[in-house]
Amino acid sequence: MLVAGGTDLLVQKADEFAAAELSFLFDAGDLKGIRIENGQCILGAAVTASEIAGSPVLRKHFPGLENFFKLISSTPVRNMGTLGGNLANASPIGDLSIFFLALDAQLMLGNRSSAKREIPLKDFFKAYKELDLREGERIERLRFRLPGEKDFFNFEKVSKRAHLDIASVNTAIRFSLEDGRLFRIGLSAGGVAPVPLFLSLTAAFLEGRELTEETLVQANAVMQDEISPISDIRGSESYKRLLLRQLFYAHFWKCQPEFVNLKKVLTPITGTNFA
Ligand SMILES: Cc1cc2nc3c(=O)[nH]c(=O)nc-3n(C[C@H](O)[C@H](O)[C@H](O)COP(=O)(O)OP(=O)(O)OC[C@H]3O[C@@H](n4cnc5c(N)ncnc54)[C@H](O)[C@@H]3O)c2cc1C
Repeated sequence: MLVAGGTDLLVQKADEFAAAELSFLFDAGDLKGIRIENGQCILGAAVTASEIAGSPVLRKHFPGLENFFKLISSTPVRNMGTLGGNLANASPIGDLSIFFLALDAQLMLGNRSSAKREIPLKDFFKAYKELDLREGERIERLRFRLPGEKDFFNFEKVSKRAHLDIASVNTAIRFSLEDGRLFRIGLSAGGVAPVPLFLSLTAAFLEGRELTEETLVQANAVMQDEISPISDIRGSESYKRLLLRQLFYAHFWKCQPEFVNLKKVLTPITGTNFA
């Protein structure tokens, strides 16, 4: 059993620990570190949430990073919980999964002795709690292209309480804006499907379109068809649809307030028709 920070494992499988053969990753030197190479950021799987939030290079490229990470668990859990653990836990609402999906990250899988392979993070999540991770493999690294000057990034999360709670719905976006048009869109959402979802149809719809209220309303209609939330303890299906719609608009309003008049997109909600 691979054990990184243990913040998921010790909650979910504490009873199995005594009998299991444990392989500890938290201090594995080859899985640590955050570095930049040719415009790409490379993170070791054993990097903690606190290390990501505190990284000077990431803070430079992601204004507001610290505030995004304050929404994730708590200081003690962030100090122990790792990137690899968050991805491998395969929770449909894993915050780091959602954060890095929007960045269209690539995952390096393997171990010291086996061949390495690299896959897009969006292909890693195959079905509910089912991963593209073979016997004996572990997550070693994650890499993504750093946002440039014309790129915008935002992360949103709504939980039953603001802190120390997992999400009802979370979402992240990265996009570029050139002459008022949207390009290179990465959009993700959690809590609206059996897996952390990369919204490829919605992103494709937005690609090259002018950033206007009308575009966003139309994109929301595409997005509502792309998601399949279920009613559970975190909220009803219709509530999660509504939340994602609001958070989707919030991405653009936060990144480009002068382009987006919220009054124009936030039409009164009637029944369960959020499109
Ligand atoms: C009180 C509390 C609050 C929390 N709040 C949040 C929250 O707000 N948002 C959120 O997303 N999560 C939250 N979590 C869940 C958890 O903290 C995160 O998912 C964390 O990132 C898990 O990392 P870990 O290193 O502790 O994983 P572990 O518990 O060590 O491992 C989790 C799983 O991943 C596997 N694993 C670990 N590393 C690797 C690797 N490199 N390769 C392959 N498999 C690996 C393990 O075998 C295990 O199956 C919370 C947990 C607690 C206890």
